[in-house]
Amino acid sequence: MSEQYADVIVDITHEKLDRTFQYRVPPELEGQIREGTRVKIPFGGGNRVIDGYVIGLGGRPKYEPSKIKKIASVPEAGITVESRLIQLASWIRKTYGSTMIQALKTVVPVKEKKKTRSRKRILLNVDADQASSWLELFRKKNYRAKIRVLEALLEQPELTDEYVSRDLKVSGETLKSLEEQGIIRLEYYTSYRNPVTEPAAEEEQKPQMLTREQQETLEGIRQEWSTNDRPCLIQGVTGSGKTLVYMELIQKVLEEGRQAIVLIPEIALTWQTVQRFYRRFGSRVTVLHSKLTPSERYDQFERVRQGEVQIVIGPRSALFTPFPKLGLIVIDEEHETSYRSEVTPRYHARETAIARGKLEGAHVVMGSATPSVDAYNRCRQGDYRLFRLKNRYGGAALPKVYPVDMREELKRGNRTVLSIPLQEAMEQRFTAGEQVMLFLNRRGYAGFVSCRSCGHVVKCPHCDVSLTYHSNGRLVCHYCGFEREQLSGCPECGSPYIGGFRAGTQQVEQVVKKIFPRARTLRMDADTTKGKEGYEKILKAFAGGEADVLIGTQMIVKGHDFPKVTLVGVIAADVSLFASDYRAAERTYQLLVQAAGRAGRGTLPGEAVIQTYHPEHYSIQAALSQDYDAFFEEEISCRTLMGYPPAAGLLAIHGACDREEILQNAMEYIRKYLIRIKKKDSIQLIGPAPESIAKVQDYFREVLYVKSEKEQDLIRMRELLERYIEINRGFASVHIQFDLNA
Ligand code: ADP
Ligand code: ZN
Ligand code: ZN
Repeated sequence: MSEQYADVIVDITHEKLDRTFQYRVPPELEGQIREGTRVKIPFGGGNRVIDGYVIGLGGRPKYEPSKIKKIASVPEAGITVESRLIQLASWIRKTYGSTMIQALKTVVPVKEKKKTRSRKRILLNVDADQASSWLELFRKKNYRAKIRVLEALLEQPELTDEYVSRDLKVSGETLKSLEEQGIIRLEYYTSYRNPVTEPAAEEEQKPQMLTREQQETLEGIRQEWSTNDRPCLIQGVTGSGKTLVYMELIQKVLEEGRQAIVLIPEIALTWQTVQRFYRRFGSRVTVLHSKLTPSERYDQFERVRQGEVQIVIGPRSALFTPFPKLGLIVIDEEHETSYRSEVTPRYHARETAIARGKLEGAHVVMGSATPSVDAYNRCRQGDYRLFRLKNRYGGAALPKVYPVDMREELKRGNRTVLSIPLQEAMEQRFTAGEQVMLFLNRRGYAGFVSCRSCGHVVKCPHCDVSLTYHSNGRLVCHYCGFEREQLSGCPECGSPYIGGFRAGTQQVEQVVKKIFPRARTLRMDADTTKGKEGYEKILKAFAGGEADVLIGTQMIVKGHDFPKVTLVGVIAADVSLFASDYRAAERTYQLLVQAAGRAGRGTLPGEAVIQTYHPEHYSIQAALSQDYDAFFEEEISCRTLMGYPPAAGLLAIHGACDREEILQNAMEYIRKYLIRIKKKDSIQLIGPAPESIAKVQDYFREVLYVKSEKEQDLIRMRELLERYIEINRGFASVHIQFDLNA
């Protein structure tokens, strides 16, 4: 049998991950050693025996074989969280395609070399009487900065350094001098700032009795845990109390001495939910958010290791929290696109959570009012267990949803973005003192071409996705590269009103102001939410009744409760319906139902108006009746027909290079290689074609799609292709990335 060699890292910190050492696997240890195994190795000149972790195995020595040392032993001590995370990295590498180092860097937090910046608290070091006499003295001497500090400290027991420097405008020098005089004391601490303001004590939640439906779901999940322990999906309508069910499950896990991770799409948009966790679990909760610096995130992970916290709430990356005894991973709003990483390795948090759950014996529970087609399909196949919450808590009715056919509006001569029925509904709300949300769906805003008279959309004859305007003035398919010339009239009805849909939140706001001069508007989009507290400020202002209308992009549809919102208007449902990717119909259904779900969350009944050129489309029809199953049946049969996930596997191979010719050659070589290695007729190749953004910062970009009924075939082919690319010089200047089922 040939020799085996192991790549070992001796120090699992981010900056040392690239330093691996090769060791020989002695025959008696073969079979015991795999990626993630902790090993004892002789290290350095003195052969001191230290711990290391295996991150790769292979048959090829990197040096003169006689000089490669042997692994000494495999310690018996239990598996550490590090070795499990390395195993998870290995799973990520294999499933999504990347190097082991890239996968490890995804999983292991960065520890920055520079010492963590600690912050200061300023406190009085003398009693109040003494402080007052010092203050008198300073007044006599007119030491203005010192006066300000002492005055402030006599009012409140401690000050933050931020407050002292920014608001009191007092320098560090002054503080130092006060400290030397023994008047104040400086305390240094590492700041673990919470991104949300912690609720005041009087907000303390009353104990909540579960409804019967919630209780049944809770019991059903616990019963599943004690039997098959499949991942559980809670399909609960908006406002049905999914969060409460999660909290009950977490409680159970904590009682067993285990910990929980709660994934949410974006903290800034879900502060209400996060606060509920704080209210219930207090300081046992911490929040990771995307604005933490890498070293702040590292600090949080240190607190986790030291057992200071038991619940971590955060976006995708919180999945890698190194809890010693992880018991549960919750994925809220499971259908959200932010759960897929957009950098290599392009992992999906749902699948990765399930993989981690398997490795560590942790349960996985996800929830959504509008599950992803992927997850729902898994329920259908019996891989996940499905639970339903059909009623809103407190018996609130789901909103009534009405379509407005925008083709009729054009016929009536109304060319504004607000249809007459929507205007009338808004008028009523303003008179009644209720609030309105206007939602402009800009996701997938890619300049598709449609007819405003009949709604016709120009599509690719091969791929069933819309064609998009290209810089060369032609209409192009992003999957297969099919091109055609631009149109001057509608091919269906001959109308000259054909073109791209263009309207931003600003234009919508202007129209609202023109039609309703007295309505107070707030706008929430990328422009108005700059800065740290951008979202929160706008959402709070709206919740506080400072405006009658909130106009925004998809960020306003996330889980906020605004009890006075009784009308939601969707300006243009079609924008996402005809985005040029195969999930367009799914996204549209989800956005429409989530948007409508914002209306009528309080005691007042809600209504949603959906403006569309395609009221007959199944996504819109299903959203009108809030009938997920109807939508799913249509969608899964389309996916099956066209061979898109989850009916089939789809691997995207993205190439980028600053020289177009080299890129085209390389992609062509990849295509030929895939044809060479494919098993008979098992795959279908589409492209290579220019990406939707064909050139970024002077880099040309192309994509090649591979479809296969078996996902495993795609993974196998990708692994062979990775090796082919690695050993061929022609790819040296080409950057290749993989994306599975994106
Ligand atoms: P979802 O996450 O399913 O949209 P939430 O968990 O946000 O629903 O619940 C909606 C509202 O109903 C929240 O304000 C929540 O506090 C309240 N609620 C849900 N279940 C209960 C219950 N059993 N007792 C009291 N309040 C509840
Ligand atoms: Zn037409
Ligand atoms: Zn096409």
